[in-house]
Amino acid sequence: MLKPKRIAILGSTGSIGTQVLDIISRYPGRFRPEVLTCKSSADLLIEQARRYKPARVVIANKSLYARVKDGLKDLPVEVMAGNEELEYAATLDEIDMVVAAMVGYAGMKPVLAAVKAGKNIALANKETLVVAGELILKEASKTGSKIVPIDSEHSAIFQCLEGENKKSVEKIVLTASGGPFLGYSYEQLQNVTAAEALKHPNWDMGDKITIDSATLMNKGLEAIEAKWLFNLPPEKIEVVIHPQSVIHSLVYFYDGSVKAQMGVPDMRIPILYALSYPERLQSDLPRLDLYKYENLTFKEPDRKIFRNLPLAFEALKTGGNMPCILNAANEVAVHGFLEGKTGFLQMPDVVEHAMSKTPFVADITLEILEASDYESRERAKDYLNQKF
Ligand code: NDP
Ligand code: MG
Repeated sequence: MLKPKRIAILGSTGSIGTQVLDIISRYPGRFRPEVLTCKSSADLLIEQARRYKPARVVIANKSLYARVKDGLKDLPVEVMAGNEELEYAATLDEIDMVVAAMVGYAGMKPVLAAVKAGKNIALANKETLVVAGELILKEASKTGSKIVPIDSEHSAIFQCLEGENKKSVEKIVLTASGGPFLGYSYEQLQNVTAAEALKHPNWDMGDKITIDSATLMNKGLEAIEAKWLFNLPPEKIEVVIHPQSVIHSLVYFYDGSVKAQMGVPDMRIPILYALSYPERLQSDLPRLDLYKYENLTFKEPDRKIFRNLPLAFEALKTGGNMPCILNAANEVAVHGFLEGKTGFLQMPDVVEHAMSKTPFVADITLEILEASDYESRERAKDYLNQKF
């Protein structure tokens, strides 16, 4: 009999994490959730553990250990707490696959540890590759760890490239919905709030990526993610606004042929693909009804208004620690915006300031990334406090 794939879900309580559990529950013999982790959603973690019966759970916030332990005292579930324990849980012998569904820079070290331990990765946490793509791929080539993307655009490109000679790729095109402020003028964007930005037209996602979608930073981060996943130079990576989010991305080949991957905007479809790869499993997930989409439209992004996109491309071209600097400052800016302290149009200013003030380093190591992440956050905070 087929043995179930034993999975560690890093970030099981988030938007991606809960959808991964939904998929896993549909195929009980195929997948087994072995480890569940979160930062501080103790009650949801307890509820998930009672329902899915993993062998272990890890809560990063140590002050919540006792609460989780108590909530699971009648079950044979090992409860752990802290960042090191979370990293350790991603490397255990009994794990076949790690789903990287944490958000932000915090997700990078556990993925690096898992890759070093030779685990296959289903990757949602794009910041991991943005910050440390070079290190992750170097380690993956040593250990044979395979990285399959969950991000819908990258899943699309990954699927379009199956069976193709990578040398025949002319370029890839990442589609972007354009977010809730598509078509807004500079004046209109001056007073938009986090509550308005959090209303994404097509996808229901965690707060950070929803704000990144509204500023187009998400697409910039995805361009950097694509560089590492598909080994492409910046000039072969393009972005197009496609508000319907039905074509998830495209690959242009050198004979003039173009492949696109389509589907309804439902993350469970790329999640299922990443978990089951190289197989496809039958599902009853929503089907694409072409008649509901009479008009599929495409337009150029407005790079003058949505300045995070060109800033991310600049970081992509510069390389070294620049994407790490970009990412760290963006995390500070998004946090400020969510708290109502930073204006929507100020976010690219924060990022640009940190990029110009944090020392550039071409050859990265983990230590350099840690220092650059710290330094960039400090420079971003300086900007927000106008201390420069
Ligand atoms: P959420 O904010 O919904 O979930 C994040 C998860 O990570 C939660 O389980 C959270 O725990 C955990 N977490 C956050 N910070 C830490 C930390 N410091 N230590 C340990 N655990 C932590 O995010 P999403 O699910 O929306 O996104 C996850 C990743 O996937 C992001 O990188 C995003 O860009 C990417 N992605 C998401 C898509 C989506 O549709 N949501 C689509 C494509 C990519 P807790 O609940 O306790 O806070
Ligand atoms: Mg995406």
